[in-house]
Amino acid sequence: MANVFEDMAPEELDRTIVELERQADEVRARHLRLDMARGKPSPEQTALSKPMLDLIGSTTELVDGDGVVDNYGSPDGLPSARALAAEILGVDAENVLVNGSSSLSLMHALVTSGFTNGVAGNKPWYQQGKVKWLCPAPGYDRHFGITAHLGIENVPVPMGEEGPDMDMVQRLVESDPSVKGIWCVPKYSNPTGVVYSDRVVRRFAMLKPAAPDFRVYWDNAYVVHGFMDEEDPLLNIFDALEEAGTTDLVYEFGSTAKVTFPGSGIAFVTASPQDMAEIRKSFQVARVSPEKFSQFAHARYLKDLDGVRAHMRRHAAIVRPRFELVESKLSEGLGGLGVATWTHPRGGYFVSFEGPEGSARRIVKLMADLGVKLTSAGATWPYGRDPKDTNIRIAPTYPSLEELGAALDVFVVAVKLVSAKLVREQR
Ligand code: PMP
Repeated sequence: MANVFEDMAPEELDRTIVELERQADEVRARHLRLDMARGKPSPEQTALSKPMLDLIGSTTELVDGDGVVDNYGSPDGLPSARALAAEILGVDAENVLVNGSSSLSLMHALVTSGFTNGVAGNKPWYQQGKVKWLCPAPGYDRHFGITAHLGIENVPVPMGEEGPDMDMVQRLVESDPSVKGIWCVPKYSNPTGVVYSDRVVRRFAMLKPAAPDFRVYWDNAYVVHGFMDEEDPLLNIFDALEEAGTTDLVYEFGSTAKVTFPGSGIAFVTASPQDMAEIRKSFQVARVSPEKFSQFAHARYLKDLDGVRAHMRRHAAIVRPRFELVESKLSEGLGGLGVATWTHPRGGYFVSFEGPEGSARRIVKLMADLGVKLTSAGATWPYGRDPKDTNIRIAPTYPSLEELGAALDVFVVAVKLVSAKLVREQR
């Protein structure tokens, strides 16, 4: 689609920019303080889980199968919490470890363990020279932060509509033994909302890595976070691995951060039995047993996958109108202008927006100037370097519908103004 600003004669473009500047000045004069930066549930959403807090009291019997809640023991997590996590991920509870409240911390612990102690009996990465990690981009900045923090080289891989560019992934993983991992969010990817296709999942399962200590970090953070009526199926990676006859390739993660309370949910990891033995050993060094009150409360409150799905339908009723508002405001304001595209997710927490080349930083800066905070431009790329400076992550869940609508109106003005100015500057 042609960029409308490019089709304008110079005088018309000038007039348009003056009018958009006027609209921006009007917004500025309102001294807004809005925020579309945070991938957090709204207060209405976290309130859904408050009844969980009433489920444990001083008279509750603190026993869970063969696990004791109020003392050490059950290093892999309480039986009920492991069963719940296993149902959420669709794997065998025997291979699940529930630990702590943050899946990101579990990922950090395992990358660090590869660095300091090695994976599957291989030399620790710190002794192996340069180590690389594949980063589908746009992707999740905190993933990229873990590997960057350890001095691992983050290598961007383009994200497509079905998942990462698998030709590139396969070529790099199968030819370069310094590639030790890849970050994946297979369902409602952060920030594109992409659900990996069966073909992509199968190609992951069939990888023959050059490095024996390569693992796929399959962060299924949004596995139950669809907000439409129909489910969006994701092929189970462990079924695909079995079909392909592959073992010891994938670590899968999940948490209830965006099911119950971010920061106070339960987090879990699963992998092959052999990999799990290594993961257990590594975690045993760091703690005697995990925190179990939260596990106990979560299992009592959510019960099983049906319970989780029912709870997530209540989230969906709150979240879906916000995503619908993003879609309607962007299509009304920018549709047909030929300056931008955006994703239309059916789950997860983000919309990924692509503006003209060289626009993202300027749009985010102008938005801040107009009183609306966005995730910093470039955050969705390793080292904050978006090569074309086009991507902006929109996080619509936290603000109220009213605030979100106001923020999106400002966004439309900012995108138009920056796009029009870019055309004029390039003439
Ligand atoms: N993974 C992804 C893809 C996320 O988007 C988030 C939260 N923004 C997390 C992990 C963090 O989860 P947790 O709170 O369990 O560490």
